[in-house]
Amino acid sequence: MLTVETVRSWLSLFIEKLEKNEKYLNTLDEPIGDGDHGANMLRGAKDLRGKLAEGLQAGLSELFKMAGMSFIQKTGGAAGLLYGQVFLHMSEAFQEDTNLLDSLASGLEGIQTFGPTELKEKTLVDVWIPVMEDIRNKRLTLDRINEHVISTKDFQAKKGRAAFVSKQLNGHIDPGAASCGYFFEAMLEAGV
Ligand code: ADP
Ligand code: MG
Ligand code: MG
Repeated sequence: MLTVETVRSWLSLFIEKLEKNEKYLNTLDEPIGDGDHGANMLRGAKDLRGKLAEGLQAGLSELFKMAGMSFIQKTGGAAGLLYGQVFLHMSEAFQEDTNLLDSLASGLEGIQTFGPTELKEKTLVDVWIPVMEDIRNKRLTLDRINEHVISTKDFQAKKGRAAFVSKQLNGHIDPGAASCGYFFEAMLEAGV
């Protein structure tokens, strides 16, 4: 359930996972050319950690807004804008009776503000949409999340800088899909 406690724990676990896997995410981004996805995400994550420590009175909408601002202001690059819009949309749409699936649908709208991203275009959408489907079918597990992340190996990149080198990325996991996997692992572990 979405509560201040579970969402705080969700965001904190996401931050921890980004910290622990910074180098791995950079490595996944190397064949795309700039190898910075882990470093980018970590800048936003560290900023968010500070905001969470200061904003102890924050409600749910405010918590999502803090996350949005941290990723937009500190992460930079494509991922900063994408995760930023995810959280800002979750913040703006949040109301008393909003459930997890509603919130994730708002997050997806945030991603789509950059234009329609379809499934199998080797982006975080390839994790986001199947995870929503698994929640609907009550079968989301850590293994399922991992399978969705790994599925991006076989897709042809169509978005962002990856699209320019898509042939060289066959067999490679998309870095944004991997960080999105950590986001959903954190969600499961936090008991949201
Ligand atoms: P940059 O490409 O600016 O260096 P990052 O390396 O931090 O940014 O993030 C790259 C990730 O962003 C990709 O792995 C991909 O998942 C995601 N991405 C890029 N463009 C789009 C898009 N238009 N729609 C959805 N996801 C995208
Ligand atoms: Mg990059
Ligand atoms: Mg970059």
